[in-house]
Amino acid sequence: MREELVALAKLAEMDDSARDIDAELKQIPQRLEELRNNVQTLENMLAQERQQLAEAEQLKIQQSGELKERNEGLQRARKKAAQASSIREADAAEREVDANRRAIREREEELGRIGDAIAAKTASLAEREKDFEEAKGVLQSREESFKTRVAELEEQRGKLLDGRDVLAAKVSRPVIKRYERLKTGIANAVIIISDGTCTACRMALPPQLTIELHRANELHQCPHCRRIIIHRTVVED
Ligand SMILES: [Zn+2]
Repeated sequence: MREELVALAKLAEMDDSARDIDAELKQIPQRLEELRNNVQTLENMLAQERQQLAEAEQLKIQQSGELKERNEGLQRARKKAAQASSIREADAAEREVDANRRAIREREEELGRIGDAIAAKTASLAEREKDFEEAKGVLQSREESFKTRVAELEEQRGKLLDGRDVLAAKVSRPVIKRYERLKTGIANAVIIISDGTCTACRMALPPQLTIELHRANELHQCPHCRRIIIHRTVVED
């Protein structure tokens, strides 16, 4: 067991030295994913604004058409008024003139509002396009720089973990498994202690446990923080 504990201590030391690298390697895809989501969101917004602009332009065409019809209607009504041969006809033609004038005023007001909306939408669309291009550029450059960084990290990691397999082969499966499980939840899953205190959580260990740690006959965990504890004398002997 003693030899196994020595190997485990070295293995854990190795893993701890690569911990920052592992964290960065895990973080990089997450950050890329965030950037991709950002680009996607901007692209969706852009598509939505383009759609809104197209709808406003469609409405403008429709309202312009109606305005034209009303103008023609006004001409016709005026002609009728001029050619009216009775008061009744003249009144009817006058009412038609008024109705067309009202409709023309309404259409013109509506077209003014649509024009304002189109101008505002065009401006915001230009902003949005700029944001989108920027975000796309950032994503592209990050994709490249992250790729380089990952290669660097992988190389460093390879060097730091050189010989890990040999050490792992000296430790039994159940111990490795227990260590791996602990490692996912806490930093420094294996603690080397010098006295009766767990150096990780600073709690005093029961005296009996300290004695057993010296014997190194079995795997022990801190009763408080659950880390695997190994006495310094075991590792240094
Ligand atoms: Zn502890």
